[in-house]
Amino acid sequence: MVSITAATVTDLRFPTSRTLDGSDAMNPDPDYSAAYLELSTSEPGLTGCGFVFTIGRGNDIQAAAVEVVADRLVGRELDGLLENPSAVNRELNWDSQLRWLGPDKGVMHMAVGAAMNAVWDLRCKREGRPLWSTLSHLEPAEVVALVDWTYLSDFLDPAQAREILEERRSERDSRIADLRRDGLAAYTTSPGWLGYSDDKLERLCRQALDDGFNTIKLKVGADLDNDCRRLGIARTAIGPDTALAIDANQRWSVPDAIAAIGRFAEFNLRWVEEPTHPDDVVGHATIAKAVHPVPIATGEHLANPTLAKQLLQLGGAQILQIDATRVGGVHDLVAMILLAARAGVDVIPHAGGVGLCEAVQHFAFFNAISVAADPSQLALEYVDHLHEHLDQPVEVTSGRYRLPTQPGAGTAFRPGTAAAFAYPCGTEWGT
Ligand SMILES: [Mg+2]
Repeated sequence: MVSITAATVTDLRFPTSRTLDGSDAMNPDPDYSAAYLELSTSEPGLTGCGFVFTIGRGNDIQAAAVEVVADRLVGRELDGLLENPSAVNRELNWDSQLRWLGPDKGVMHMAVGAAMNAVWDLRCKREGRPLWSTLSHLEPAEVVALVDWTYLSDFLDPAQAREILEERRSERDSRIADLRRDGLAAYTTSPGWLGYSDDKLERLCRQALDDGFNTIKLKVGADLDNDCRRLGIARTAIGPDTALAIDANQRWSVPDAIAAIGRFAEFNLRWVEEPTHPDDVVGHATIAKAVHPVPIATGEHLANPTLAKQLLQLGGAQILQIDATRVGGVHDLVAMILLAARAGVDVIPHAGGVGLCEAVQHFAFFNAISVAADPSQLALEYVDHLHEHLDQPVEVTSGRYRLPTQPGAGTAFRPGTAAAFAYPCGTEWGT
């Protein structure tokens, strides 16, 4: 009998603030971090990995939360956990005492996400499949059974969700073949960090075109005149045919967002991301209506599928940007992908940080294979740094994500990473 023998949590921090990588209007000096969970088992060599991405201070709080949640899995028999992960998901989310700290939001819910992603990492490694493949080969009824429908069924009920999955089923193998050959479009945020100089912005825009990207995203929101100047530099560098998106990282009020987006009309924006507070569902709907047809995108800070449901019900987002570690893991992410399909909204996941590209690509591919109406409309964020710390770094060539081939959920860091980046005693941090 194989069982889970230990839950080890490590506070990993990468000193990205030293180079202003990742700087935006809300987050001027992030140190990309991960509260990293490893579930050891009694089967030699079998470890399940999950993490929560944070940007530095407070990663120790997140790590403590992951430890509290994951400790509940220690000593459990593995086959039982992997046979019915929905029961585990339910148990962790509905823990009557921990639920007081949410419910379904923030540090505790992200901790559940790390634990559930680690459970799925174990399941995939045992099956010898990457996560996208495990999910794509489930029967529609099995996918539907992953979702907790309690607060969602007034917008999408299990029967409707099953119908969407059944409809796509006959295309599954041909979609996998297409994605294996062509990959999935990546878009890049690398040129557009707010802390970069104009020269660096222009050089990186041209570089992105040379690298095969057809969508580039710039950070905005700190200063409107500065934003217009930088958008002008980028638009000139990339020409009229490459898509240009912007990300305000929640900086605007609702009226300020409407005014700013109006001022940017000349730049023909592909989307405007996080214009205001992520919980302001009605505010997003007001903005989307006022700036139509400019698409509004959000999701990386959406705490749970219940908020996503409301956003989609009110037309507050035309693009849903799921994040692999913001919500409660695999089950919540499958729910959000299905809700987006119900609303006719494209899923273009949030990535970057550290490990987020590696983890979220599996959900982007699952969506493209099993759920989305038109996979050719989809894309996935790509930022080219810190991949060397992951056990299975993403492969992005000619501006496209390649289908992962290794078993697992893409959530494992390289074995030597902790020695250098564990906080505060790793060699990168030690004094
Ligand atoms: Mg963003």
